[in-house]
Amino acid sequence: LKEVTTTQDLGVFHRGVHSSVNIYEGAAVENNYSGNLAEICPVGAITDEDFRFKTRSWFLKEGESICPLCSRGCNILIEYHPGFPRFEVPKRVYRIKARENPEVNDFWVCDRGRYGYSYLDEHRADKIIMNKIEGENVLTWENISEYLGEKIKRLSSAKKTSGIALILHTWLSNEELFLLHKIFKDDLKVEKIFFADLPQGEADGYLLTSETSPNRRGAQEIGFDIKPVDLDALASGTDFLLAFGPFLSGLFSPKDLKAALNTVKRKVLFSSYTHELNSLFDIVLPVALIAEKEGSLTNVEGKVQGFQPALEPPGESLPEWKVLSDLGKELGIDSKFYSELPSPEAILIEMGKKIPFFKKKND
Ligand code: SF4
Repeated sequence: LKEVTTTQDLGVFHRGVHSSVNIYEGAAVENNYSGNLAEICPVGAITDEDFRFKTRSWFLKEGESICPLCSRGCNILIEYHPGFPRFEVPKRVYRIKARENPEVNDFWVCDRGRYGYSYLDEHRADKIIMNKIEGENVLTWENISEYLGEKIKRLSSAKKTSGIALILHTWLSNEELFLLHKIFKDDLKVEKIFFADLPQGEADGYLLTSETSPNRRGAQEIGFDIKPVDLDALASGTDFLLAFGPFLSGLFSPKDLKAALNTVKRKVLFSSYTHELNSLFDIVLPVALIAEKEGSLTNVEGKVQGFQPALEPPGESLPEWKVLSDLGKELGIDSKFYSELPSPEAILIEMGKKIPFFKKKND
């Protein structure tokens, strides 16, 4: 505590065989890294209330991932119950622990990253929702890229790509943002591209950054101008909207959001969550979280870190990169390019050829 948080919440009291580690009288351990105490306590005397008596640690499996709750990109282990869903197993993820990486987070994670894991399991979307489609075929993942491609091609061939809008966020991986930039900015020359993310928080001077999403730096390096959502611009002449993530709802009043979205003829949302926002879209596609897919993220210091799935995505959820890669092929503008991208690893190699920043990460 003296070296890491500089708070010195604990002390060694008494002498010799009577010495003990304890808090100061009337004080408490109050710092943003308190959970690390239970993780490093060598004798198991300090335990974690969040985990204690909830399950047996030997029932759990662990998977490696990256914490997405700020732009530090701490390396983590996710401990989960492999038997979930089952009625006697009330949740899937039980504990987050630090994974050592001297270049990023050393041995530590902050308490937000350690205890804020409910986003992995709560209110998860697990099937495709079609809200307002009349006279169209039932959509599945097999025909979704054909459906999206057909809508986009119709606008593109009528030279009306000004009628296409995108709302993105920076929880998307480098590979997904690269595909979005290639398809919509480079190939289709779409102008209305906005970003809807969580508002900035407060940095703590150690690991936690003020940026509350994991890949803003990646989006910038890929070439996006990160513009906030402009509802007036969205409501003016947009025929087709592709939106990603649940964050839009926190940025505007429901009334304003509904009024703007009602002016858009066809709108599709990629989201990992069931949320009121979903009812404002014609189609909602369930997508995997970072812990459930493969890809890479660029942290605040420009370090590109790869990740693999630690958990299974729920129900019908798929990673966005898969749909985008299929959509790129479907649009037929640069089909050869997209047909050679069967995995995030292959996409990152292509990124390295086009963007020098990512080249050095592949060398
Ligand atoms: S510092 Fe950021 S990335 Fe690291 S554990 Fe905390 S919230 Fe997660």
